Amino acid sequence: MKKIIVTIDGWSSTGKSTLAKQLAKALGYIYVDSGAMYRAITLYFLRNHVDWTDRQGVKKALKQINIEFQKNPKTETSEVYLNGENVEYVIRDLVVAEKVSEIAAIRDVRDFAVAQQRKMGDHKGIIMDGRDIGTVVFPRAELKIFMTADSSVRVERRFKEMFEKNPNITIEEVKANLEMRDFIDSHREASPLRPAKDSVCLDNTNLTQRQQFQKAMDWIQKKISASKY
Ligand code: C5P
Repeated sequence: MKKIIVTIDGWSSTGKSTLAKQLAKALGYIYVDSGAMYRAITLYFLRNHVDWTDRQGVKKALKQINIEFQKNPKTETSEVYLNGENVEYVIRDLVVAEKVSEIAAIRDVRDFAVAQQRKMGDHKGIIMDGRDIGTVVFPRAELKIFMTADSSVRVERRFKEMFEKNPNITIEEVKANLEMRDFIDSHREASPLRPAKDSVCLDNTNLTQRQQFQKAMDWIQKKISASKY
């Protein structure tokens, strides 16, 4: 079957990765969580006390960073590795979430991540989620989905997820973090979050996971049938 590139961008906690993982599994495509790359870079900067306001320091630090994805055989989903260490769990911490958007707004950081992301799409058959995948990373992708949902629904979802790991977290902290990230992500100079002109919007405020999966699968099947390669 013909393979295409599917990009899923959108606001924080709209369920991009949940949908992307389900689609990738159903299609036998590679799934790439581009946010995990920015989170892993942030973790490296925090652990190594990198001053990200110093351009030379940032460039030097990026040279020390190797990011890879490997499939977890138990869950069958890909997990991110920073210099050989599995950091899939630790990068979801609020300490990382509080700094990631600031670091992801740095042009050198984006150039570093985007170059790797583009290579991963060389053979198509890939679903990548993030903020600039349809606009910058793969502007010629066959299908571009832009996800949104009411902010109260998004806060509730993310709170549930984070509370399971850290029962001390408050809903106010989660809400403030989502609002801050959305603001920085959509107002930055380099690759701001916005829907690609040729994207389709998926508002899942009132959709079940099954319904949103079906909707996206229909779009994908149509694109595969229309695709030349
Ligand atoms: O997707 P996730 O919420 O894990 O992404 C964490 C952060 O990484 C985002 O808030 C955003 O600042 C940054 N990001 C980005 N571009 C992407 C993916 C994520 O700037 N393609």
